Amino acid sequence: MTINIKDISEKDRNAVLHPFTQLKDFATGKLGEPTIVETGKGIRIQDAHGNQFIDGFAGLYCVNVGYGRTEVAEAISRQAYRLAYYHSYAAHTTDELAILSDRLVKMAPGKMSKVFYGMSGSDANETQAKLVWYYNNLRGKPNKKKIISRERGYHGCSVVSGSMTGMSFYHDNMDLPLPQIVHTGVPHHYWGATPGETEREFSARRAVELDQLIERLGPDNVGAFIGEPVLGTGGVTPPPEGYWGAIQTVLKKHDVLLIADEVITGFGRTGSMFGSQHYGIEPDLITIAKGLTSAYFPLSAAIVGEKVYKVLEDGADKVGAFSHGYTYSGHPIGAAAANAVLDIVEKEDLPGNAREVGAFFQAQLKEKFSQLPIVGEVRGVGLMAAIEFVADRDNRKRFDPTLKIGARISKAARERGLIARAMPHGDILGFAPPLVTTKAEVEEMVGIAESAVRFVMDELSRDGLNI
Ligand SMILES: *Cc1c(COP(=O)(O)O)cnc(C)c1O
Repeated sequence: MTINIKDISEKDRNAVLHPFTQLKDFATGKLGEPTIVETGKGIRIQDAHGNQFIDGFAGLYCVNVGYGRTEVAEAISRQAYRLAYYHSYAAHTTDELAILSDRLVKMAPGKMSKVFYGMSGSDANETQAKLVWYYNNLRGKPNKKKIISRERGYHGCSVVSGSMTGMSFYHDNMDLPLPQIVHTGVPHHYWGATPGETEREFSARRAVELDQLIERLGPDNVGAFIGEPVLGTGGVTPPPEGYWGAIQTVLKKHDVLLIADEVITGFGRTGSMFGSQHYGIEPDLITIAKGLTSAYFPLSAAIVGEKVYKVLEDGADKVGAFSHGYTYSGHPIGAAAANAVLDIVEKEDLPGNAREVGAFFQAQLKEKFSQLPIVGEVRGVGLMAAIEFVADRDNRKRFDPTLKIGARISKAARERGLIARAMPHGDILGFAPPLVTTKAEVEEMVGIAESAVRFVMDELSRDGLNI
């Protein structure tokens, strides 16, 4: 099919409300034409003009098995022909759903018991909040409801999950966050540590702050803590040494549930199957989405641990049916897609590839970027990484935000055929390529990123900035 680019662009501009797009600049044409993405293969996508890009961000950290996997397309098609839909209410199921759930319970970290399905990471975290509240009502602790998340944490953008997200631009003018959600400090050593403070000392300080926050709110009022094993949208930031150990000690002390938001880190991205395994986290509840189907179909889940599930089952005689469910909970096409994707993840050992190629990627980024005069920190784990740009390395000073350094570097990379994302909260270039990426592709990616950074450095020198 040939696309009529002009026609599609016009229809899009007339009728699509695009997320994270400056609406007026788009409507008036100042942002240019929409990018019509037409095909994808491996780690590359192609637009309607025939331009190819290496997708250094796997869509939105989700296309882990890469584009154009016909095995997944066939599994989806097979299920659609056989049975496109039935619900999972009142003990209905499909073979794909039962098989997927058994698989997830067995492979997930911690002592997991059951899987509840949704369509997005946001709705799965919405479910997590309701599970925490339901659990504490059933066990006679009706006040234990507050949920603590971190500044710069990302958990979605619906009403509860958007409140958990610790970024003000998700709240401003949208009447969030809800009062049940409270934020604590971000575990980013580079910006948060006091002079000379080690990673371990900094982690211990964050844990003390959490302890004090829980004491201040009253332990009987705090139900759960939610965190990503590695902060994703908050700047691709691995935890400092000792962080998760110290945090879990505090949570245990106050009988506060731990929700691991594994939407990005699940299914191999860190080099372990789950981020929780990578960092020694023992969650009570786990959120998964993105990598679960590699985004071939919208599917998410809240995996419920034994401790929480037991209370739900024990309370059933008193409260009746578990009254929570979406029309599409456990969608058979989603389940079929997930099973086909997990087959690839296991057969091709994608966590192993993320570990090995990821180590090479991290080393390459450090080698090419960490000594540049505008680079403050190069960080990451497995196949997720970020370069943070600063105006003054010695004194850790940011660039004037109006210079838009991060956005300019991201744009320069795109013009050279690489998609790497400008992240919020600083001048940050983020990477999260598909987990099938090879070392040769890493070299290609890093090479383009380097030329983009040097291009912007030259621009800054020309403008008289002293670098
Ligand atoms: C993307 C993301 C979500 C939200 O998922 P959606 O499918 O966009 O609703 C939640 N948590 C984390 C860690 C994410 O990266």
